[in-house]
Amino acid sequence: MKVLVINSGSSSIKFQLLDMQDESVLASGLVERIGEPEGLIKCELRPDTDAEEVIKIQEPVPNHEHGMRKAVDLLCDPDKGVIADRNEIAAVGHRVVHGGEDFHQPTLITEEVIAAITKNVPLAPLHNPANLDGISVARELFPEAPQVAVFDTAFHQTIPAHAFHYALPKELYENHRVRRYGFHGTSHAFVAGECAKLMGRPAEELNIITVHLGNGCSMTAVKNGKSIDTTLGLTPLEGLVMGTRSGDVDPAIYAFLARNCDMDIDQIDNMLNKESGLKGLCGLNDMRDIHDAIAKGDEAAKLALDVQTYRNRKYIGAYMAALGSVDAIVFTAGIGENDDIVRAKSVEGLEQFGIVMDDEANAQRVKKPTLLSSSDSKVQIWGIPTNEELAIARQAVEVIG
Ligand code: ADP
Repeated sequence: MKVLVINSGSSSIKFQLLDMQDESVLASGLVERIGEPEGLIKCELRPDTDAEEVIKIQEPVPNHEHGMRKAVDLLCDPDKGVIADRNEIAAVGHRVVHGGEDFHQPTLITEEVIAAITKNVPLAPLHNPANLDGISVARELFPEAPQVAVFDTAFHQTIPAHAFHYALPKELYENHRVRRYGFHGTSHAFVAGECAKLMGRPAEELNIITVHLGNGCSMTAVKNGKSIDTTLGLTPLEGLVMGTRSGDVDPAIYAFLARNCDMDIDQIDNMLNKESGLKGLCGLNDMRDIHDAIAKGDEAAKLALDVQTYRNRKYIGAYMAALGSVDAIVFTAGIGENDDIVRAKSVEGLEQFGIVMDDEANAQRVKKPTLLSSSDSKVQIWGIPTNEELAIARQAVEVIG
C-alpha cells in the first residue's frame, strides 16, 4: 500500500511517498517559493538506495496545484518514476496544524471536516488556509484516494482542564475558545511511542518527557501514553526559547511596548514570532552558527545558548512535578537529535533527581534511537529521530483500515 504524505505551507509543499508494506520511502520532495518569480521543485526518488536519483527543476510555480501536479508527474515519470500512475496511491495523509477542540484523532476528510478546519482558521491564520490548499489540490489529483487529516494539536486534546485553561475571564474560553492547544503533537506522540517500544514496556505504564527542539521547540509531559501538558499554547509562541520565537514572556510586554516603544500589535506580534528567541538574543537562529560564534568568543551567542538550555531545564523540572514520576526523557528534532551540548546543558545539575547523562553516549549525533543516559540514571535519557511523515502515513493507514 502506497501512501502520499503532504505538508502544505503558505509558499511551499513538502511531500513524501511511502510504501507501507515495509515503511520504506519511495520518494521525498519539496516545492518551494510558490507564487514567487522563481520556484523550485526538488524530488529525491528512491532515497537511501543505490538507485537514488535527485531531480531539481527551477521554474515559476504559480500556485499549489501547479506545484503538486509537477511533483506527481515526477513520481509517475515512465523512466525514472516510482509508481506507474496516480491510482497506485492508496491514501493521502495531510498534516493539518490546528484542529481546535474538534479533532482528537486523525480523521477521514469530508466536507464537514473541511468546514471544521476552516472554522479553526482564526486560531492558525497562516497555517490552516495553506493546509486547506493542499487538501483541495490532492482531492483533485487523487479523486479515488481517501484523504486523511492528521492534526498537530490532536495528541494534546487529552490535556486536562486545569492545564489547558489560562487564568483569564472565562468568557474568552466560552466565546472564543482561548486556551492551550499545543502543537508538534505528531512528533511528541511518535517519539513517546518509539521510546516505549525501546524500553520494552507498554506506553500506558510509562511517564515520558518529550523534548522537541527544532526551529520550533516544545516539550510535552506524557503520562501513561497521553499528553497531560505541553509548552506551546493558544499559538506556537509560548514556552521554550525557539529559533526566532520568544517562548514565555510577561504578557504585559504588549502594553509596555505599545506605550513606551511606539509599536502596534502587528509589529509586536512580528517581533515575538520572527525577531526574538535565539535570533533576538544574538542575531543567529541556527544552533550550529551559535556554536561557531561561541568558539570565537561571542558573548551574546553564549547567552542565547544559556537562556535556551536554562528554559529547557526549568520545564523538565516543571514536568517532573506534573508527572509525579518520570521514566524517560526523549530529545528529538534538528537540535535535539544533533546537538550534544544543548542536550547536556538541558539536564545539567539534575543528577540528584535521578537524571544522569552518559557523556560518551551523548557525544554524538543521533541517527537512530540511542540511549544517552548512564546505567545508574534512574530516568533514561533517549535521543530518538522524529519522523512526522511516517507517523502521518501510519495514521492514514489506520484511519482507512
Ligand atoms: P523544523 O522545526 O523547521 O522542522 P528542524 O527539526 O529541522 O526544524 O531543526 C532545525 C534546526 O536544527 C536548525 O535551525 C539548527 O539549529 C538545528 N540543527 C540541525 N543540524 C544541527 C547540528 N548538526 N547541530 C546543531 N544543530 C543542528
